[in-house]
Amino acid sequence: MSGRRKRTSRSEVARDIDCNEKLSFDNQKQANAAKIVADMQHGTKLKVYHCNSCNLWHLTSYY
Ligand SMILES: [Zn+2]
Repeated sequence: MSGRRKRTSRSEVARDIDCNEKLSFDNQKQANAAKIVADMQHGTKLKVYHCNSCNLWHLTSYY
């Protein structure tokens, strides 16, 4: 097969989009509050983590 190309910038772009699509929080306390709400309202188990890309806090369903 020809036409294989290296995906150099893809992960960076994906990460950036990821941050924009995700809920972002200024601090862990806010993220934790949202996490608890998601758990109570949707039964969704989320994890709070600090993002090195945007330097904010996100929630992830990764467990
Ligand atoms: Zn981020």
